[in-house]
This record gives sequence, structure tokens and C-alpha cells, in this order.
Amino acid sequence: MPWSKDRGYDEGGIDTIRTRPQPYPEADLMHTWQLLGDAERERLEGIRAFLQNRVRPESIGYWNREEFPHHLLPEMAAFGLGGIQTDGSSDLFKGLVYVEAARADVSLSALVGIHNELIVGMIHEFGSAAQKARWLPRLTNFAALGAFALTEPDHGSDIAGGLSTTATREGGEWVISGSKRWIGSGTIADFALVWARDTGDGQIKAFIVESDRPGFSATKIGNKIGLRIMQNADIELDSVRIPEANRLPGATSFAKANELLMHSRAWVGWQAAGVQLGIFDIARDYALEREQFGRQIAKFQLVQLPLAEILGNAMASLSLMVDVARLQERGQLEMVQAAMAKSTTTRLARESAAKGRALLGGNGVTTDHEMAKLFGDVEILHTYEGTYEINSLIVGRAVTGVSAFV
Ligand SMILES: Cc1cc2nc3c(=O)[nH]c(=O)nc-3n(C[C@H](O)[C@H](O)[C@H](O)COP(=O)(O)OP(=O)(O)OC[C@H]3O[C@@H](n4cnc5c(N)ncnc54)[C@H](O)[C@@H]3O)c2cc1C
Repeated sequence: MPWSKDRGYDEGGIDTIRTRPQPYPEADLMHTWQLLGDAERERLEGIRAFLQNRVRPESIGYWNREEFPHHLLPEMAAFGLGGIQTDGSSDLFKGLVYVEAARADVSLSALVGIHNELIVGMIHEFGSAAQKARWLPRLTNFAALGAFALTEPDHGSDIAGGLSTTATREGGEWVISGSKRWIGSGTIADFALVWARDTGDGQIKAFIVESDRPGFSATKIGNKIGLRIMQNADIELDSVRIPEANRLPGATSFAKANELLMHSRAWVGWQAAGVQLGIFDIARDYALEREQFGRQIAKFQLVQLPLAEILGNAMASLSLMVDVARLQERGQLEMVQAAMAKSTTTRLARESAAKGRALLGGNGVTTDHEMAKLFGDVEILHTYEGTYEINSLIVGRAVTGVSAFV
């Protein structure tokens, strides 16, 4: 039996998420999925079923153990999840894939998002023809993984001005030295896209650094409270030599990194909408199954209230992101909207996670009942891709014309 109201989910097996028919089974009160054309909607339904039936149940054990489920990558590739950046999908479809991924497991949704927005996207946008030919076919079917290496131990929020990893040109080679921190997939990726400062002209540039180059080492960061499946790493670059052919010709300044970060901030907004739908799914199921005082707790007004609040937060987040996709489709998205969407949706996600956790009572504090996993994961959404505070400052600067960063 995969689920019981007393024991929660057995490790490795939720074959059926819902135990009884429910109104609004997908919780899509605003009919957002209907905004897609028929082909994309049908494709999304297939992806959702795979993520719910295959990825979600397995993810709990991997999350608990802080391990990566390598065997799921070919299956994710079969659903095209490695190539949505370059397969001609609409921005709305891509966003709703991120929603479904986060609804099933936030760590793997982070892998899918970073992979598409920051790895495939970066090589596609800024790479040479040879780099694209070498890496994109393998990346888009998850035969290869990359890592996006920007943050450093001493420079997180102030990375734009503070970045201290260096790249020094010596003949036909570059010598890369420095340290990177928090780098997703850092211990399992085939290469890292390393942002480093050119000691010649002082500009920040990006380089493909294969992980088997002498001088490259990655150490897993353990004991995280969220995103525990994502293998984050400290990376040391000790005079790593790479050919000039590994420099991304289009990545010529930090402004180029910002172009990517604008869209990846939007991706975190989709994640925040998705995780709230996951929180709602778990909370509603629990409210309908759990009995106290001789009745379903769903019958209590003070249990219906957080359910309505969580779904309201989720729909507000989703609707905001649909508007972000509209701007993306028109080429009108700017950093201010991406930052506002990221900070607003992650603030709501944190609130929804707290309400969802409380709704499960004591069972809300163990990942056996799933909710505690999402409760930890939303903390990462709040902090990465620019903290909540930094994204709020970006909005504040845009609407006042005054920078309050320092
Ligand atoms: C799980 C995880 C995965 C990540 N994945 C990656 C990755 O794949 N690649 C990558 O390059 N990076 C990654 N990051 C790094 C992430 O982007 C940084 O953690 C984030 O930018 C914040 O930097 P910091 O942790 O150094 O915090 P700090 O910059 O040290 O901030 C500490 C606190 O000070 C506040 N603060 C800082 N400056 C100001 C200011 N001017 N005004 C007001 N408040 C301020 C912050 O909001 C925060 O609350 C990841 C981080 C995590 C936790």
C-alpha cells in the first residue's frame, strides 16, 4: 500500500497520488493550461503524468538521502525535458513545464531549469559554432550535463562587481584560477560554464571548463535543508588550462550574464508557482483523509481557510507568470518585471509552505508525508537567483530611480 493516513507515503512508491475523486483535480482554477494550443497542451499532459507518477514518488527517497537519480535522466530526455529551450516551444509552454516539474520535485525542476535556461541557453546564445556542435546535441538529450559557475565563496549578491576568479591569456590558452560556491550539478557535470575576470582587459567572460581538466575539483555541499537532490558543489580552479576555443565568444561582459539571469529569474517564478500547486495537492489530500473529532479535518473551517489561501497564492503566482510569459513572447521582458515576479512568487511560496506544513500537524514535519520536503525546498527558491532582498532592491531602484544597494 503506497499511502496511508497514519504512515504517509512508503519510500519509493506513490502509485496513485489521489485517493478519491476531487473537484478541480488539477487545481487549475484559472484555466491557465487552456491558454496553450492543442499540441502543447497534449504534450504537457504527458509530461505531467510522467512527473507525477514516476518522478514524484521516487524523489522522496533521493531527497532524504541527498542522492541524484541518474537513471531518471534518459526518461526525462524521452519527454524532451532537456531540449525545451531550443525545440521551438512557446515561453508559456516552457513555463508550465517548469510548473509541473516543481509540482513533482523542486530539485529536479531546478536541474531542468538551470539546464535549459543557463546551460543550453548560454551555449546556444553565446557559444561558437564548434561549441554548439560539440555540446548541444548531447545536452538536449541529457547525455551530458553542465554546471553554471558564477557565485563565489566571498561574492554572492555582489558578484557583478566582486567576481574574483581570474582568466589569464597565455598564447592559445587561458589559465583559470579561483573558487566557486553553490554550483548546481558541480560534482556530476561534464563541464562548468565558468565566469571569470580577464586579467588583460578586466572584463568578465565565460569559459567551458571540462571537469576532467587538471586543476579542476568539485566537492559536494551536504546537509542542505532544501533542494537536497541537486548536487551543489564548491569548485576549485587551480590554474586550469583550457584552449581559446573554450571561451564563449558571445559572453563578453557581466551584462551578458544578466541577460541570462533575467530569464532564469522568471524560471524561478514558475518554480514558485509549481511548488505551491504541489503544496496544495498534498494539503488537500491530507485534509480529505485525516480525521479528528470523528470527521474529516476538511470539514473544519480553519482547515478550509489555509487551503483557500494556498490555492489563492498559487493562482496569483501563476497568473503573474503568465503575464511574464506574455512579455517574453513579445521580447519586452526587463529585469524589473523578472525581479518582481521572482520576489513576489517566492514570498507567496514561503507563506504557502508554512500554511501547508501546519495543516498536516505533526505529520507536516516528516518527509514521509512529503510536505516537509517542499517546506525546505521553498527556502532555496527564496534565496537563489538573487535573494528576495536583492530582487526587491532591483524593483525599488527601477520605480524610484534611486539605488539602495549600498
Ligand atoms: C541551493 C543553492 C543552489 C545554488 N545554485 C547556484 C548555481 O548553480 N550557480 C551559481 O552560480 N550560484 C548558485 N547559487 C548561489 C546563489 O545565487 C547565492 O546563494 C545568492 O545569490 C546569494 O548569495 P550569498 O549566498 O553569497 O548570500 P549573501 O550575498 O552573502 O547575502 C547574505 C544576506 O545579505 C543580504 N544582502 C546582501 N547584500 C545586500 C544589500 N545590498 N542590501 C540588502 N541585503 C543584502 C542578502 O539578501 C542575504 O539575506 C545557489 C545557492 C543555493 C543556496
